[in-house]
Amino acid sequence: MVRVQGRDVDDAGRCAHHPTSLDIVSFRLPCCDGFWACRACHDETHPDHLVQVWGPDDLHRRAVLCGACRTRMSLRAYAADPTRCPKCAAPWNPGCVYHHPLYFQEGA
Ligand SMILES: [Zn+2]
Ligand SMILES: [Zn+2]
Ligand SMILES: [Zn+2]
Repeated sequence: MVRVQGRDVDDAGRCAHHPTSLDIVSFRLPCCDGFWACRACHDETHPDHLVQVWGPDDLHRRAVLCGACRTRMSLRAYAADPTRCPKCAAPWNPGCVYHHPLYFQEGA
């Protein structure tokens, strides 16, 4: 099973920063291994390294994890409808779209 890293992370990938029932999406970043509950969790754990985000050529990468069904999906599949899981239909926090640049760039 994929382990999600971060502060006070629970089984669904929620953390101290984003603890609501909808905050179950976790991301991987290109700068280090593993999934993170959120970018703040990453930055607190690795204040010393330069954070990288995925670029437009990386959208095929399975860098998104649903905390409800534990499915890993591509950034492209996630971005197509970031309000619910394409596998289990669990609702996701629609406000996450404003944070996408913290994890990946969708390109022009
Ligand atoms: Zn990192
Ligand atoms: Zn967090
Ligand atoms: Zn799911």
